[in-house]
Parts: sequence; structure tokens; C-alpha cells
Amino acid sequence: RDLAELDALLIDCRACPRLVEWREQVAREKRRAFADQEYWGRPVPGIGPADARLLIVGLAPAAHGGNRTGRMFTGDQSGDFLFSAMYLAGLVSQPHSVSMDDGLELFDTRITAPVHCAPPQNKPTVEERDRCSHWLHGELELLAPTARSVITLGAFGWQSTLRTFGALGWTVPRPAPKFGHGASTILTRGDAVLEVFGCYHVSQHNTFTGRLTVEMLVDVLKAAAESAGI
Ligand code: SF4
Repeated sequence: RDLAELDALLIDCRACPRLVEWREQVAREKRRAFADQEYWGRPVPGIGPADARLLIVGLAPAAHGGNRTGRMFTGDQSGDFLFSAMYLAGLVSQPHSVSMDDGLELFDTRITAPVHCAPPQNKPTVEERDRCSHWLHGELELLAPTARSVITLGAFGWQSTLRTFGALGWTVPRPAPKFGHGASTILTRGDAVLEVFGCYHVSQHNTFTGRLTVEMLVDVLKAAAESAGI
């Protein structure tokens, strides 16, 4: 199974009743500014090349962002923040992302999330996280042969990433390293080495308050890109 086949299966997933109901309700009711648009309203797959050396792991799609456009981090302010920083770091072809077919290209970078459906209040339950974990497991298994570094956006992504790579046979330091902005740790599997970086999430809670600035994010992106050999 390749990544395209995995994504094709993912977008039909209906395993979480609460999230299916929420993503479809948001798609029906819409935000007034997008009233003339057709919402995606389904699981949102990762984006970027299947042989990427750098991975970015977030939390879950936003109700009126990825859940509307069908592409992760596309069409909301968190995504604008992320893509403008990625553009400054030379990892995307343009600083904005508005729709699935706006021509955005990711360079050697794949973005995904531990939960693929938009959750109410951006908070998936533990059960939903666990139910969705096999999709991340399958995706990281396919990406592991080329991946060299991972940026996790927030503690949720950090913990899911360490847990999933551990389940894939990578050695994770014990006790498990704690998330923090600027934290990093090394995972190994045989001769393979993967560096995992922590970064505050690009949610408006962090970006509006200045807890995470574009410069801080660019610094992490550049460090992770360098670690990946990009
Ligand atoms: Fe399926 Fe994951 Fe969406 Fe749950 S969150 S319905 S497991 S894709």
C-alpha cells in the first residue's frame, strides 16, 4: 500500500461518531463568510511528497480551515502563519494557502496530524486519538524510510509522534522526553536516526498572544530542515 492508497482509504473513514457528526454539521451550517462554498466535511489527509525528509505533525484539522478546503492548514489563520514561516524557510512555493488547487507545493516536507477530522473546540478525546492512531501509524511507516527529522506542533503531536515511532520499532529515550518549544530528541532504528523537534502549535491562542512568533517558528523549521539534510 502506498501513501496515495492510504489517503484514499482515509477520506472515507467514519470510525468516530462524534467527529463525523461535527465535521458534517459544520459543513452544512458553514461560516457566513464561506456560505457560497462547498465544505469538504470529511477526514483530511496529510499533504506533501511521499519521500519527504522533513515531517510536520500537528493536532487535527480546523473546522473552517482544513475541514472546509480539504487540505491540512489551508484556509485559516493558523495555516497562513505556518505557510508564511515555511516560505521564509524555503520549504513551500508560496506564503499563502487558500484552497486545494491554489498551486502550493511543499519541498521535501510532509504535513500530517494524529487526528484527521476536525474536533469540537479543537479537542479530540483520548478515544478518538487512539481510534485515529492507526492512520498515523500507517503514514509514518511509509514515510520512515526517507524521514530524517520531525517537527511536532504542540504536546499532542509530540506525544503521538514518539508513541507511533516507538510502535514502529524506533528506540525512544526513557523516560520519554518532555515536550517544550525548542526541545529535541533523537530516535534510532538500526542505523537510521530521526531527530524530533518540539514547537508551540500555530493556533491563534499562541500566535495572537506572541507566545509563538514567525521568527521562532522559522528558527525551528530551519533547524529541522538542516537536521534532515535539506
Ligand atoms: Fe476516522 Fe480518524 Fe476521522 Fe476518527 S478522526 S473518523 S478515526 S479519520
